[in-house]
Amino acid sequence: MAKISPEKTPMREQPPNERVKNYDEVPLGYSPSEAVAEAKRCLQCKKPLCIEGCPVEIDIRSFIDFISQKKFQEGIIKLKEKNILPAICGRVCPQEEQCEKVCIVGKKNEPVAIGRLERFLADWEREQGKIEIPTKLKSTGKKVAIVGAGPAGITVAADLVKLGHKIDMFEALHQPGGVLVYGIPEFRLPKEIVFKEIDYLKKLGINIYTDYVVGMIISVDELLEEYDAVFLGTGAGLPWFLEVPGENLNGIYSANEYLTRANLMKAYLFPKYKTPIIKGNRVATVGGGNVAMDCARTALRLGAEKSILIYRRAKEQMPARDEEIHHAEEEGVILQLLSNPAAFHADRNNWVKEVECVRMKLGEPDSSGRRRPVPIEGANFRMPIDVAVIAIGNSPNPLIPNTTADIEVSKWGTIITDEHSTKTSKKGVFAGGDVATGAATVIMAMGAGKVAARGIHDYIMKKKPW
Ligand code: FAD
Repeated sequence: MAKISPEKTPMREQPPNERVKNYDEVPLGYSPSEAVAEAKRCLQCKKPLCIEGCPVEIDIRSFIDFISQKKFQEGIIKLKEKNILPAICGRVCPQEEQCEKVCIVGKKNEPVAIGRLERFLADWEREQGKIEIPTKLKSTGKKVAIVGAGPAGITVAADLVKLGHKIDMFEALHQPGGVLVYGIPEFRLPKEIVFKEIDYLKKLGINIYTDYVVGMIISVDELLEEYDAVFLGTGAGLPWFLEVPGENLNGIYSANEYLTRANLMKAYLFPKYKTPIIKGNRVATVGGGNVAMDCARTALRLGAEKSILIYRRAKEQMPARDEEIHHAEEEGVILQLLSNPAAFHADRNNWVKEVECVRMKLGEPDSSGRRRPVPIEGANFRMPIDVAVIAIGNSPNPLIPNTTADIEVSKWGTIITDEHSTKTSKKGVFAGGDVATGAATVIMAMGAGKVAARGIHDYIMKKKPW
């Protein structure tokens, strides 16, 4: 057997000093020869653990084998059997925690770059300009309403339409895509790519009604009068706050608002686009996940001289992907670790001018297994800022549970579902993705979408009783 390279085939990237001045994508993708070289690092294991490590069970071994033989068309067909959003997952999935974590090559060397290869195939197909539309089964005459056009809803819609059901999607925003369009910034996930994936849904014959807030324009009960089943994939869009003094001052955003303005509404192109954003020279983002990284990196692209990320634990405990932390630091984001805001202070016009933090130390592990941050008494300090972004988490919006009888929710506001079918407590209503799990990942939402599609199909085709 030929000796394999110990490291992943590197992927070209925009240099940090250039990319902080634009919104273009940071990693530039593999060329065909780079992809083939990387695919040849795969051992083609008899029992591929990578497939078990993937929440949607993509046949990773086979699609990589096709790449190594330069059979890219066959590779993308294999990949799309299980994943209809490969260009997106190849870019934003936490592969290091899933398929790549269990890759046998990774025991002694760097694992095979599965995510990069997934992205390569999807980009290759798009560049050919020829997207294969799968054949649909004969119409069943059944209709399903899908509420929310994020990764969960998109997956359910695509799987059910292929089985011959009529699908209507209802999306609150003016663009479908969920967090993929309003949250994750252009420099990590170009919107062009998301729109191409949405086009694919439309080509499958799915109707998408935008600017359509279920719970206000129409209720779930009214949808049930017209549809055989309803799927709720409404995400977790309600931001959490720190609940410290001064948090409602001018110049303080939730991460949702900040990123929605910057991404979906293109505030960085104001006044060409109508939505403004307060840019700020010294921007403090609070949090340590992917959302916080996206905010801190967006602040630099909006022109901040200093973008400071305040996180209450140490770097090793940050929930953000390693790659995102690495990119953020390369671009100049300052990590203010083991610190937590205790208050925000205002100038005389009620604009934020300082954040007061308390220093933290790490104590015993908490329920998440991570060491608990403990405030050090009397160790407060202040930093001058002119914008703050709070990126400490989200929960589901209560609108639908509040306007629908019989939908059970947990104490965290997530909709309670059956894990095998995604059934809720209300007959005919299914739910999945962030609305059921709380804020998680794209691939987890898609995994839930797959389970939901099977559950809904069995229910409406009367294969299983409710
Ligand atoms: P969403 O994507 O939230 O979609 C829900 C949709 O429902 C939205 O379009 C919303 O407008 C719509 N909706 C809500 N209420 C209603 C209503 N009443 N009527 C009609 N429509 C409604 N995950 C990763 O895997 N990797 C990453 O790098 C990553 N980065 C992230 C960065 C940011 C800034 C954020 C916010 C999240 C990130 N995530 C990442 C998490 C990931 O995006 C989510 O877990 C995933 O999008 C959840 O999918 P979903 O379909 O459940 O919900």
